[in-house]
Amino acid sequence: MSAPTPPFLVDVMCGTLATYLRFCGYDAAYALDRGLEADDALLAAARAEDRRLLTRDADLAADAGDRGFLLTAREPTAQLEELATAGLDLTLADQPSRCGVCNGELVRVPADADVPEYSRDPAETTVWRCRACGQHFWKGSHWQRVQETLSGL
Ligand SMILES: [Zn+2]
Repeated sequence: MSAPTPPFLVDVMCGTLATYLRFCGYDAAYALDRGLEADDALLAAARAEDRRLLTRDADLAADAGDRGFLLTAREPTAQLEELATAGLDLTLADQPSRCGVCNGELVRVPADADVPEYSRDPAETTVWRCRACGQHFWKGSHWQRVQETLSGL
């Protein structure tokens, strides 16, 4: 199988993988976020949006043809290894560009912006906001855990 190229559509049961791909800056739509569970709905969405379908379902991967990529591992870290072995660059992005929650685009929050209670102060820490869901992000402990996982591949 050739190296899968973004953007991706990640099948149900592989939501953690979708989150990791977003941390690497990839456009990775998750089937459940889109309400896509039936095979034909997944295939139609992948075609319509020109996405590579990452799935653990061998029949679905076969139906997707060149557009499909079959994952055999169950654990997200092992799935990441499969993608890395196939040639996908899984380096943590310097600047986060995709929302880990919803795959929306992130924008830098100005230092003087109002932020939600849970957010770090953008005057002290670089903070990003998702254009789609409004979630705020910064490079905290979660970022470090993702970095450790990716650097261990
Ligand atoms: Zn979001």
